[in-house]
Amino acid sequence: MQEYFSDAIVLDRLANGDLDSRVVFFTKKFGKLAAKAKSARKITSKLSAHLEPGNLIQLRLIEKNGLQIVDALKMSRLTLSPQELYLVSELLAEAEPEFGIWELIVSGKFFWLEVLKILGWDPMLARCSDCSGKALSFHITSQEFYCGSCSSKLPKNKVIYV
Ligand SMILES: [Zn+2]
Repeated sequence: MQEYFSDAIVLDRLANGDLDSRVVFFTKKFGKLAAKAKSARKITSKLSAHLEPGNLIQLRLIEKNGLQIVDALKMSRLTLSPQELYLVSELLAEAEPEFGIWELIVSGKFFWLEVLKILGWDPMLARCSDCSGKALSFHITSQEFYCGSCSSKLPKNKVIYV
């Protein structure tokens, strides 16, 4: 049975059936991964407190009809807001390690400007895609930059301000 071990950031946790959870991680070694936690929603589950979004953990997974969480140990709690965790999760591709972004987050020097640059979208070189004005925000769905007034028409939870 294949086993995976990595430091990881808990990005999101969703209910999956009655007792199971599906947890989305940004792992240091393997990039973004989703895995199942059996019975994680039981209050008695020993893993539940370690799998809160925003936690930096040591994670052990096995491959068994998809990825399953075997063990999780909280090391610390990061200062990213739920919205920032959501946007990071949306930006990262599945199973692609991103050491630069990992370092920014765990070192506490998290800036969207740097994150977007690492992913190949440099705000300094960008213009608003509607009016060619100064790029002040990045829309994660269209992956386009917008100026202040054009970005005000976009759904707020999908916009990164740079
Ligand atoms: Zn504009």
